[in-house]
Amino acid sequence: MVYGMSFICLFDPWKGPLCTCPPKYTLNPYTGCEHGCLYCYITSFIPHAFTVREKRDLLKKVEREIARLDQSLYLSLSNSSDPYPRGEEKRGYTRSILKMCGERNLPVLILTKSPLVLRDIDLLKKMNAAVSITITTIDDQKSNILEPRAPRVTERIQAIKHLAREGIPTILRLDPIILGLNDDLEEWKEILHLLKPYLKQVVVSTFKPRPDSWSRIACAFPHLAETREYYSEKIGNSLYLPKEKRKEMLSTLRNLAHQLGIPFSSCREGLSSWNDLQCDGSSLLTNQ
Ligand code: SF4
Repeated sequence: MVYGMSFICLFDPWKGPLCTCPPKYTLNPYTGCEHGCLYCYITSFIPHAFTVREKRDLLKKVEREIARLDQSLYLSLSNSSDPYPRGEEKRGYTRSILKMCGERNLPVLILTKSPLVLRDIDLLKKMNAAVSITITTIDDQKSNILEPRAPRVTERIQAIKHLAREGIPTILRLDPIILGLNDDLEEWKEILHLLKPYLKQVVVSTFKPRPDSWSRIACAFPHLAETREYYSEKIGNSLYLPKEKRKEMLSTLRNLAHQLGIPFSSCREGLSSWNDLQCDGSSLLTNQ
């Protein structure tokens, strides 16, 4: 098992009391994320979080670490960055890591907003892997402000369709849902109807503002300033909307998903009894 100053670590959501993830490993092939999502939480613990940096001797060290892992767990790529920044096209670090995981039969869960994941379909098809793609809104204009340097929503939609057609288990992450911004039932319907044939699961989570993410959101969407007072429930280190409000939003989404036959889960909401599958998508990996 790998501990300490490794690139691969056991996943620890700062002991978030509502996290129900099974034990798993996590690896960020790059430090930082260029997508610059206004709601991003990594700016509260990673300096220069929106600048992507390489890690020295990454592949050499990861190869050594993978050999020492408990093979009954799985690897999550990535929880504090996107494993497919633009530079990955040239550098290929994530691709090399996938090859190593494939050779060791280590299951892999990919979380990304980038269609560059399609480049690795040849590897993913031979692996025990699932891919989770985040879409917060179907409105490209809104996404351009909310996720300024992330791949366009239309590209993410095409990526989900392509992965699913190739037989890769594909998850939509509708996360975060921000009160007054992307909490519209008609928009949810549009997204889920469009993607229904391609999804093995939808995972949703509400926005938990931190001082820095909130100031970015309120600056870009001034009409949301008045909603700040609704985030009044403190759970662990996070601020939440009141549970009744979250239940109302999430039950609407759950009903919609069920009407369309899509398994539903919510993440870190204290509503795990509503989950059809593990909220991180790991139920779609074989033997998890
Ligand atoms: S993709 Fe994720 S890690 Fe990257 S900026 Fe957006 S929220 Fe942060």
